[in-house]
Amino acid sequence: MLKFNKSRIVYVFDLEGTISNCEHRKHLAPRAPFNDPNKSWDKFHAEFPNDEVNEAIYNIMQALWLQGNDLFILTGMMEKHKEMAKDWLRSNGIGYDAIIMRQNDDFRTSPIFKIETARKVFDGLNRYNQLVLFDDREDIVDIFNSTKEFDYSNGHKMTLKAFKV
Ligand SMILES: [Mg+2]
Repeated sequence: MLKFNKSRIVYVFDLEGTISNCEHRKHLAPRAPFNDPNKSWDKFHAEFPNDEVNEAIYNIMQALWLQGNDLFILTGMMEKHKEMAKDWLRSNGIGYDAIIMRQNDDFRTSPIFKIETARKVFDGLNRYNQLVLFDDREDIVDIFNSTKEFDYSNGHKMTLKAFKV
């Protein structure tokens, strides 16, 4: 059984609206009653390459990265956009260890997708005892903070702390 003798923290960042500033394309995101032909998720994501970096979050990530911490990106963007996302991160000089995206046929809500995916991925890695999440969505921050911890299948725990950006 893995024994933690010091804190092993993984820092997890959302992409759109957290690392990137997507304000300029929010008008393209579908909204109830979903009958506006000018709005769609494809249109919304097509403008992603034009997002600017959120400088404050970039500075936090860069500092953590240079200290040798483990940085993950957990985004509700689908796998079909992976190259676009990776190109954007590369061209903006953002260092990270791994990016976790939504499968193309996964239509769970973002809070459910993120908490269930994090639980599965980090249990599988079995390497961390603390997860620190940064996200611009209140409902995502809330689900992590109210869940408080994951029980690993080996009996260890991972504590969760989320911050709203
Ligand atoms: Mg976001």
